[in-house]
Amino acid sequence: MYLLVLFILGLCIGSFSNVVICRLPVAILNPGMAKTFNLKVPRSHCPGCLHVLGALELIPLLSWLGQRGRCCYCKQTISVIYPLVELLNGVLYLAIAFFVSEPLTAIPLCLFCSALLILTFIDYRYMLLPDAITLPLLWLGLLWNSSGYGVIDATQAIGGATLGYLSLWSIYWCYRLLRKSEGMGYGDFKLSAALGGWLGLESIQFILFAGSVLGVLIWWCRRRFSSDNTIPFGPALCGAALLYLGYLILVGGLSTEPRAELNLPLGNFWPLIRF
Ligand SMILES: [Zn+2]
Repeated sequence: MYLLVLFILGLCIGSFSNVVICRLPVAILNPGMAKTFNLKVPRSHCPGCLHVLGALELIPLLSWLGQRGRCCYCKQTISVIYPLVELLNGVLYLAIAFFVSEPLTAIPLCLFCSALLILTFIDYRYMLLPDAITLPLLWLGLLWNSSGYGVIDATQAIGGATLGYLSLWSIYWCYRLLRKSEGMGYGDFKLSAALGGWLGLESIQFILFAGSVLGVLIWWCRRRFSSDNTIPFGPALCGAALLYLGYLILVGGLSTEPRAELNLPLGNFWPLIRF
């Protein structure tokens, strides 16, 4: 029952994530439209014929499958990205619910994953990591880990947030002083700080290493489809953070160890990439 509830919650929040992915960057880039275009207005509609979606057409995943990926009225195809985001979000929630039985640990982790998914899609498309998501994510991570229901203790969380921010900030300034141009955006530092705040000091070395590998992969994939030479670093950092979270849950004993004895064996983790 717990699994089913969290899976359905995941699909519904995935559906809301689609709204955030589509609208938040447009609202940020066009501040003049704030009153007529935000997360609430206009109501969800088909971009082809402007038909406002009814309750049945808003059911995550099933409505897209039922309509075979097309609008009922104008037959315009509906992007496969929408059901994909819903499904991905639902599967992440299901996986967390499967391994983490404590709801006060599982539900914040689920919301953390949704935030990473939203940031991934927004940054990939717009090269933008909105403060409206990264900064609350940072404070919520510190608060949650300080509450005793988090995955690490408060000292690890504060250390992670600080190291996460400063490591990318230093790389940015070195690059800027040497090359006289900007190698990455401020959003990357804030995201990295938030990831450290959620996953701890020990996670940063892995996130930066795996994030760099994923970044090169993303750059290579983008090059195949367009002449765009830029690398959105947000999706790479988020992907690395999800891998690390998977490690914490599967290997770190998050799902089985009693809370008081949750002492993650991270000192021995990834010996090859410890600096
Ligand atoms: Zn339509």
